[in-house]
Amino acid sequence: MIQTTKLAHIGIAVKSIAGSIGFFRDILGLQVLAMEDVPVMKARVAKLSTGNTVIELIEPLPGEQTVTKFLDTRGEGIHHICLEVADIKLATDELIKKGYHPVYDEPKTGAGGHKVNFLFPKETHGVLIELSD
Ligand code: ZN
Repeated sequence: MIQTTKLAHIGIAVKSIAGSIGFFRDILGLQVLAMEDVPVMKARVAKLSTGNTVIELIEPLPGEQTVTKFLDTRGEGIHHICLEVADIKLATDELIKKGYHPVYDEPKTGAGGHKVNFLFPKETHGVLIELSD
C-alpha cells in the first residue's frame, strides 16, 4: 500500500486569486505562504497556512482546461485534496499495478517544485486526489 504521510493541502478552485485571497487572508487570517504561476499546470496558485495544513487557491490561466471546466460546471469550491506520500514514483507505480489510472504515468512537477500525480474522482469515491512528494 501507499505510504501516506499527511494531508498536504486542500485545493479550492477560484475564478480569480486577486478577487478571493482577501477573504482567506484578511477575514479568516490565514498566512500567505506562496504565490506562483505553474506553467506546466497552466494555473496560478496561492498557498495559505491554516496552522496544521494548507489551503491552495487555484486560478486557471488561459488555455487551462480541467479547472476551467470545473468552474464552468460547478462554480468555485473544493476541487481536490492533496495527500503527501513518502515516494511519489513508488505510489504512481503501485496505483498502476493495482489497476488505477493516475493522470500521469510519471509524476510531474507542480506548485512549489513538488512532484505530483492525480487520481480522478471516479476511482476515489468522488474526490479528486492529488498525491505529492
Ligand atoms: Zn493541489
